[in-house]
Amino acid sequence: MPNSQAIDIFYDQPMWKSIRAHGWQLQQCDDCSEYRYPPAPNCPRCLSLKSTWKPISGKGKILSWVVFHRQYFENFPPPYNSVAVQLQEGPIVVSNLVGEEPKGNWIGRNVEVTYAEDPAIGTVPKVRLVK
Ligand SMILES: [Zn+2]
Repeated sequence: MPNSQAIDIFYDQPMWKSIRAHGWQLQQCDDCSEYRYPPAPNCPRCLSLKSTWKPISGKGKILSWVVFHRQYFENFPPPYNSVAVQLQEGPIVVSNLVGEEPKGNWIGRNVEVTYAEDPAIGTVPKVRLVK
C-alpha cells in the first residue's frame, strides 16, 4: 500500500527550474517558516514535510572565501574563487563571486545573486558584490 506521505524524489526540481528562470526559489517550511537549502523533503528544524516554494531576495553576506590556484575540474581553470554566502533568508550557499573582487577582507561583504551559463550543467547561481 502506498504511503500517503511518499517523498517526491524530484523534490529539488522546482529550485533548478526557478534558477533557469533567473528567479531562485527555496522551500519555506509551512510549519516553522525556516528556509531549506539544499532542498529537502523535510524541514531540518521541525521535520515537517510541508513547504512552499518562495522567491528569495538574492541578497546575502560572504561568510568565508578561498581562491584556488590549482586545477581540480576541467570547467574551473585557476585561479577561481569559492565563497560561502549566508542568504538574508538564513541558508548558507556555496558559489563563486563574479565581477569585481573586494579589496582586502571579503568576509561580511554584501553580495547579490546573479546567474551564469555553465556548459556542463546549465544555469547556475553566482554572486557579485553589491556596490
Ligand atoms: Zn519547519
